Amino acid sequence: MSKALETILEIDLGALTHNFNYLKSKLQPQTKFLAVVKAFAYGSDAIEIAKHLQKLNVDYFAVAYTQEGVDLRDAGVTTPILVLHPQSLNAETLIDRCLEPSIYSARLLNDFIAVAEKRGQKNYPIHIKFNTGLNRLGFEQKDINTIVSKLELTTAVKVKSIFSHLAASEDLEEKDFTKQQIETFKSIAETFKTKSGIEPWLHLCNTSGILNYPEAHFNMVRSGIGLYGFGNSELEDKNFEPIASLKSVISQIHEIDKGKSVGYNRAYTSNRNERVATIPIGHADGLSRVYGNKKGFVFINDKKAYIIGNVCMDMIMVDVTDINCKEGDEVIIFDKAHTANEIAESAGTISYEIVTALSKRIKRVFLP
Ligand SMILES: *Cc1c(COP(=O)(O)O)cnc(C)c1O
Repeated sequence: MSKALETILEIDLGALTHNFNYLKSKLQPQTKFLAVVKAFAYGSDAIEIAKHLQKLNVDYFAVAYTQEGVDLRDAGVTTPILVLHPQSLNAETLIDRCLEPSIYSARLLNDFIAVAEKRGQKNYPIHIKFNTGLNRLGFEQKDINTIVSKLELTTAVKVKSIFSHLAASEDLEEKDFTKQQIETFKSIAETFKTKSGIEPWLHLCNTSGILNYPEAHFNMVRSGIGLYGFGNSELEDKNFEPIASLKSVISQIHEIDKGKSVGYNRAYTSNRNERVATIPIGHADGLSRVYGNKKGFVFINDKKAYIIGNVCMDMIMVDVTDINCKEGDEVIIFDKAHTANEIAESAGTISYEIVTALSKRIKRVFLP
């Protein structure tokens, strides 16, 4: 944890181990653990994160898009990978790279089976996704007959799991709704098993589902945000360690007179003599323009410095008039003490958004 001399994203693999072990401690010993590493493992680095979790004997990975799975295979990741949101066009690539599709529609089921048959596959693992209330992706309960009839006509694919996704697992005011989703999922699972004669794995819970609905862990759970250090509640956040710290440096300090403007479009005008620090991080790095004009802030020598004027592509300016600091000093955008939640909330968004937005051009530095 040396002082940052440029903009870096520091990733603490020890914290990842801690979060993984904490989540595992919430599970029955036989419950499988799927790690969601989509979107570059929530903006960190999918390959390094997947390799580390593979060493910890994680059972499964999930990514959103097929290309994300290809990148993991190219890097030598051998653990099974579920692709949550593939397209028919990806069927050949999925099979070439041993990636297991989430099948969420009749159109995708038909198209994937056609390619699997053409490729001479036997029992290629697929995962059937059901919609139980999120109304995003997935079959409906009434589609089970159609799915089962289609599956009976082929030996090219085999249903390894059926799953669904909770809409509001972090929101205890929506407990009734979530319990209804759990009941619907159970009913779908029973009907599917009876009609197909298959015994697939069942999985439903994301991070907050794991923490709030232990009765719904089924055969496997799927965690993303928890692995990266957020528990989605003040109480649970204490049990996790954010793995990523976004750090930068003061490139230059300007002393400006009262009444001078700062930055593009002269969006900020000083109302006193001020010291303004320029920092090399901008909207091209994922620090959105919504953080401009004193919505967002950074920490310098543990003091809060507000972003003044508009966020530029490659830099921000912050007011350091009342902060004892100099050029070359370290700047914290977020870390374990000042978490991504803090800055995200200042702009009315969530930690998921700020961490996944971080651009590839920010150097990743790994702590063991
Ligand atoms: C992203 C995603 C997850 C992970 O959710 P977290 O809240 O980050 O744990 C799990 N399941 C599905 C289907 C997802 O799309």
